[in-house]
Amino acid sequence: SGAAARLYTEDDPLVILSGSSLKPTVSNSSSAWLVQFYSSWCGHCIQYSSTWKTLALDVKDWHPAISVAVVDCAQEENFDVCKEYSIKFYPTFKYFQAHAAPSDTGTIYRGADRQIQSVRQLMVNILQNHTRRDWPDHCPPLEAYSSAELLSLLGQRSNHYTAIIIEDPASYVGREVILDLLQFSHVVVKRALSTDLPLLDALKITSSPSIYLLHPNGTHTLLHVEKRLRFFFSSLLRTLPGVQRRFKSEGASIGQMVAQPDKQSTEPWRDFNRSQVYTADLESALHYLLRVELATHNILKGEELKVFKDFVIVVAKLYPGGGSVVKLMETLSDWLLSLPLQQIPYQAILDLVDNKMRISGVFLGKELRWVSCQGSRAGLRGYPCSLWTLFHVLTVQHDAKPATLKNTGLESQAAPVLQVMRRYIRTFFGCELCGQHFEQAAAVSMDKVQNQEQQILWLWNQHNMVNYRLAGTLSDDPLFPKAPWPSPSLCPSCHEEKDGIHVWNQDNVLHFLRHHYGASNLSPKYSL
Ligand code: FAD
Repeated sequence: SGAAARLYTEDDPLVILSGSSLKPTVSNSSSAWLVQFYSSWCGHCIQYSSTWKTLALDVKDWHPAISVAVVDCAQEENFDVCKEYSIKFYPTFKYFQAHAAPSDTGTIYRGADRQIQSVRQLMVNILQNHTRRDWPDHCPPLEAYSSAELLSLLGQRSNHYTAIIIEDPASYVGREVILDLLQFSHVVVKRALSTDLPLLDALKITSSPSIYLLHPNGTHTLLHVEKRLRFFFSSLLRTLPGVQRRFKSEGASIGQMVAQPDKQSTEPWRDFNRSQVYTADLESALHYLLRVELATHNILKGEELKVFKDFVIVVAKLYPGGGSVVKLMETLSDWLLSLPLQQIPYQAILDLVDNKMRISGVFLGKELRWVSCQGSRAGLRGYPCSLWTLFHVLTVQHDAKPATLKNTGLESQAAPVLQVMRRYIRTFFGCELCGQHFEQAAAVSMDKVQNQEQQILWLWNQHNMVNYRLAGTLSDDPLFPKAPWPSPSLCPSCHEEKDGIHVWNQDNVLHFLRHHYGASNLSPKYSL
């Protein structure tokens, strides 16, 4: 068609500004702005776009204080505004202080170094350049506190945690963690300098950066972190009990799209261990899927019937443990394969699941029992959580026993579990918008998966993409905030830093996933 692909889309974690929105957005704003003026035909801009997106994601949670944006000067509707802001070369980086006047056309950043870490430090410097008078409304103090100020807090009760990060004067970690936590309530982060000897003495700190925590009840301790990295500090503080995201942004809420019984909210809480997987969640997933989600389809035929058959085969072959779930799914798949019918009334399947099986002593739990998928209230977590869990288990099991899919018609595919998941989600998953998102992602990269290891990692990565997108939306359960998974506390060796950016150690992630979703890590607690 000749239309160039757009470099940035609404799905990117940044703001796309235009001729009509630039000035109203960056002037009189409660936050500062960092804007890249680019041109979609400039080769360097095209190459740089992935770096800019990574940066935007890295500082996504800072946006109440400073936001990242782009303007495409190659678009006709933006010609005038790019001229008014004197953009002569692409890309040009400009920043706007909070509460800037409408006449302010921004300050150019001329730094030669456009690496993420340098731009992130520039953002901190932009914030610190504000005066007390024009300070961004939601930006916490970034200056270091003195020992006198901090030591007076020791032993005091408060309604929040106070975390003190002690660091070298040239370090940015403290300020970055302060900004990472700015959207979270019940925790205040302050920084202090490692040159402040009275403080180091009083808190018995011998290396930096270190993190010292004052609890609401007045007690205080030096925290142990596996690695002294920004991501470890931020992740630790975000998961303190009671710490929650402050601003909920709008966003598709799964609770409104997948009908879920209210019953769970009145049930007693089931204690569980986050490093285990519970068969009760997997059984509840199948219960919900078979008895509720599929039951809305009166008749299965054509592609629906094929998808259902393949799903049943995959679960029958790969569900670990060989208990009654496997027996049920095997019976179901034998029955489906023996029927020459082009279409099956769903009631016949329900009858089989509900009645005939029971007689032979094989049955699926008659109620939902969420364990590690319990939500803090009805409509959160539950079924979608358990469906992810089920497919993670199946990818790991396929890797452990690749031969089990022989003679099923699925064995020739490089990623049979993902293909079945894709078709199931597209055909039956009650959250339609979720299905569309998943289908988009699958269309882009699922075909590149070549083996069982990549199959495990693809699903893990895709699940994290969804976590990134949903963090802070209405689907986010405050008790189980969405975050890159596994957290540093679940798997310290999964996390590293390269050029100041958090990176995954994929070998260690794969190792961790094989263990976490492996048959030996399944707990039967709360299961029938
Ligand atoms: P979940 O994200 O459901 O995760 C369940 C458990 O899996 C976690 O508790 C954790 O133990 C583990 N886990 C977390 N991340 C990973 C990972 N990367 N790899 C392996 N294990 C992990 N909701 C929307 O609002 N919009 C959507 O577009 C959307 N798309 C979805 C697409 C699919 C295919 C599915 C199955 C669900 C989708 N949902 C969507 C629902 C959403 O992803 C969550 O399932 C739901 O909000 C419940 O969240 P949760 O906190 O229980 O954690």
